[in-house]
Amino acid sequence: MLIAKVIIDIASSLVDKVFDYLLPSNDFMVGQRVLVPFGNISKEGYIVEICDHSDYEESKLKTVISSLEPFPVILKEQLSLASFMKRKFHTGLCDAIRLFLPSEMRSSRVKELIKIDCYIEDEIKAKTYLSSVRKNATSVIGIINLLLEKGSVSQTEINKTFNSSSLKKLINDDIVKTREVIIRRKPYKSVDNLNSNTITLTKTQSMVVDRITNEKNVFLLHGVTGSGKTEVYMNSMQKVLESGKTGIMLVPEISLTPQVLMNFRSRFGDSVAILHSGLSSGERFDEWQRILLGEAKIVVGARSAIFAPLKNIGLIVIDEEHDSSYNSDSNPRYSTIEVAKERAKLCGASLVLGSATPSLVSYHNAMIGNYQLLEMKERINKREMPPLKIIDMGNEVRLGNTGIFSNALKDALKKTISENNQAILFINRRGFSSFLMCRKCGLVLKCQDCDVSLVYHKFEDALKCHYCGNRYKVFTECPECGNQNLSTGSVGTQRVVEELENLFPNISIARMDNDTTKSKDSHLKILSDFRSGKTQILVGTQMIAKGHDFPSVTLVGIIDADVSLYQSSFAASEQTFELITQVAGRAGRADKSGEIYLQTYAPKHYIYRFASYYDYPAFYKKEINLRQTTLYPPFTKIIRILFTSEDENLAKDITKIYYEKVKLIQQEYKSSFKYLGVMKSPIGRIQNKFRLQILIRMMRDKEDEIIEKLFNIADDIKKPNVSIFVEIDPQNLS
Ligand code: ADP
Ligand code: ZN
Repeated sequence: MLIAKVIIDIASSLVDKVFDYLLPSNDFMVGQRVLVPFGNISKEGYIVEICDHSDYEESKLKTVISSLEPFPVILKEQLSLASFMKRKFHTGLCDAIRLFLPSEMRSSRVKELIKIDCYIEDEIKAKTYLSSVRKNATSVIGIINLLLEKGSVSQTEINKTFNSSSLKKLINDDIVKTREVIIRRKPYKSVDNLNSNTITLTKTQSMVVDRITNEKNVFLLHGVTGSGKTEVYMNSMQKVLESGKTGIMLVPEISLTPQVLMNFRSRFGDSVAILHSGLSSGERFDEWQRILLGEAKIVVGARSAIFAPLKNIGLIVIDEEHDSSYNSDSNPRYSTIEVAKERAKLCGASLVLGSATPSLVSYHNAMIGNYQLLEMKERINKREMPPLKIIDMGNEVRLGNTGIFSNALKDALKKTISENNQAILFINRRGFSSFLMCRKCGLVLKCQDCDVSLVYHKFEDALKCHYCGNRYKVFTECPECGNQNLSTGSVGTQRVVEELENLFPNISIARMDNDTTKSKDSHLKILSDFRSGKTQILVGTQMIAKGHDFPSVTLVGIIDADVSLYQSSFAASEQTFELITQVAGRAGRADKSGEIYLQTYAPKHYIYRFASYYDYPAFYKKEINLRQTTLYPPFTKIIRILFTSEDENLAKDITKIYYEKVKLIQQEYKSSFKYLGVMKSPIGRIQNKFRLQILIRMMRDKEDEIIEKLFNIADDIKKPNVSIFVEIDPQNLS
């Protein structure tokens, strides 16, 4: 008797294991979706293995009821990926498998779109028939003539013009035949003009393409903004296709950067499938089918496209690899880069991580030889990077200017407007939570133990460290210079727009932030109005920093650079450098040169100095030394174990049990543990679930061992109604 090992489609850590079932016949395959009895109901599940014996008594096993599709929907490679994710991130198997299928496919909420096509098989028979019908049977005559002329026409189309009973009669009389045709719903139909106008690569670009396509490796492509990375990706994909293989191209938040997608579509046409959350469920299902059936050879998509059912992959590209959207920080939690590395390894593909501002961890990996570093140091047209001016806002205050804009930025705006160019004003929302800062000397209060900025909690009127939980009284004067003008919070986009309108009453200004982009496609409208020149100044948050290419932008103002510098994270400097470089990269991209004004209360900060020279290697050297001295990633790992439950006491109890067990591990690995603490999460309740957390910072020598133990504790003490998540190097500690 054949035994199927089945994962039941229930996302609960309590059911997350493999169940044995008997197979009723030999027609089942690994990767197939099946219906099985579970308890006293039937459930959907996935066959992950077929074998001929079970560790359980066979007479007690239940039998698989039926298969849901006649073919496997999950590749063996994907099953390996699921078990990798379980090992690496403690992801539930069912949670992982759900990433591999369009969600609407489960419980059959989406189907193929089927069209009925009508055609004539026997022309002579049809013509004879035609000569025999009465002259006033206009519908019958019309349908036959139409089909004789066009070959085949869909039933819906015919019924639009002709009498539907006539068509029925013709089908009954066997004159007209029908067949079912599957229609693929296609996203972005409008972008279809194949553009064969191929650009000649520069020497640097072709060297990079050669290495990517000739070696099987993990590459870090560090190319300044405007150095032509997209062209490198497309040419590498082209070569991969020519060698008979396929590829995945990941981009962050497609809805904001539709250009890459357009580029790929116009270069590769229907061999490209697109996967992201903005598609309709029908479109997503059809794109997924085209990939599974091998009709599509290149998949372009947001992070979850790394799970596409693509066979024979030769190349995976992760563009803007530093982008935080590649880390999934809600269930299932995973790092897209780690998953991509594993997938590339499983199928023998190259992996390219590309960015103008690589993450410190990735660049470090390149420095120590884990990745191959590829560099593109110049913009395509050899244009200089735009000059970046640092404006001392403390000085503005001393001169009596307490507004949002420095005098220099105001003058630059005036000039830009009078010359009919465009400006982008960037408001930083990265840190989001507010810090306390001296308006005179720029001092920001930091934690004594952690070297991160303290966060002001208005409700409790206290300053807190989000890393160790230390609390501090709110200062009324600056401990450094005695000034009493301390301020919290940050400027909002709305206030910036108001002040702009006062300064320039006749100018059209657009605002792009979470508030103005709630409805579907609103961000596309804002961007296209700006591109067409309908609006002259664009005020926005992080959303406007990414990859946009606006040729008429000559001025970029960064209103409050310090916000991300003083956010409560050890990675604050890195994120600030990244942000400034990306925002600055929006200016002077075409024929007109550009300039950047960066407003700060800490004009001497080394991050601003390096950013103003666009000197990534210098920034890296300084920052990596700092991380090494202070023992932060990549020299340590930060682990958060997050407990959530609607029952506060239950959450507390489980947290306590877990904490006691971690303390034992700490005893065993004394030298590895640099920090261990337990606390309420900074956001104590989300969606009515209470949140507590254990934080660990540890050396990396025994990391695998320790992490495995932490996973095991979670498995041992799990209970209904409380969730335990072990997060490795989480980006978000809220
Ligand atoms: P990046 O992604 O590195 O910021 P892009 O790929 O957007 O840069 O390229 C910037 C611009 O240069 C684009 O408009 C692109 O079409 C153009 N470009 C890229 N490679 C070449 C080339 N070899 N010759 C001419 N133009 C190029
Ligand atoms: Zn602290």
